[in-house]
Formats: sequence, structure tokens, C-alpha cells
Amino acid sequence: MSVTGLPPYDEGNIFARILRGEIPCKKVHEDSWALAFHDIHPQAPVHVLVIPKGPYVSAADFHASAPAELIAGFWRAVSATAKALGLEEGGYRILANMGADAGQEVPHFHVHIFGGRPLGRMVP
Ligand code: C5P
Repeated sequence: MSVTGLPPYDEGNIFARILRGEIPCKKVHEDSWALAFHDIHPQAPVHVLVIPKGPYVSAADFHASAPAELIAGFWRAVSATAKALGLEEGGYRILANMGADAGQEVPHFHVHIFGGRPLGRMVP
């Protein structure tokens, strides 16, 4: 277990493999801190994932363990990605699933960006 009580980071998870270039992705944005790419099963006209460049299982792990510079760079990359997608004017939703109750499938911290249509009110 890590300091956050989460399982250790699995270097073989699918997003780790995308970061290493072992699996292709439809890239939207990349910088020193993060990679953003289109989700393979989009739930909205625009559905993009942003992942930090580091071994973090989830939001809890990322915020507890990542250097402040990476946390800031990552969240700036989320905004830069939304801007690159042309979502700033109409708006968009960002969402991160954390752990089993949220149905997190991939054990590498990621933020979903949804947009391209009115998304309605958030429901749990
Ligand atoms: O937040 P959660 O872990 O549930 O979401 C994982 C997301 O990763 C899903 O929306 C899934 O479609 C996406 N995915 C992907 N490319 C893969 C594997 C999963 O875009 N190769």
C-alpha cells in the first residue's frame, strides 16, 4: 500500500503504456506535465482524457504525492486542452473518478473533459 492507502502504481496499466508510446492515442495536447487524448468510447461530442506524466493511481495519490510544480502544470494542461478543443466559449465539464465507488477503471490518475453540447445538470 502507498501512503494514501491505495495499491501501488501498476507500470503496466493502459495509460502508462500510452505515455511510454507503446499504444497509440489521438493526441490533443502534450507538454512537460501532461498528455491529453481522445477517449476511445466518447460519452459526449467532445470527450478527452488528461493524464499527468507520473506514476499516480488516483486523485488522492496525485494530490498527496506529486510535486507542487507537477500539480500546477497538470491543471494548467487541463485548461490548455479545453482551450485547444475550442470549448472555452460554450463551456465544458471536468470529472475525475476516484476509486471503486466512482467506478475508476484505469489506475492512472486522469481527468475527463466533456463538451460539445449542453451537458445538463450534474447527477451523482
Ligand atoms: O474514469 P475511468 O477510469 O472510469 O475512465 C477510463 C476511461 O478510459 C474510459 O472512459 C475509457 O473509455 C477510456 N479508455 C481509453 N483508452 C483506452 C482505455 C480506456 O480512452 N485504451
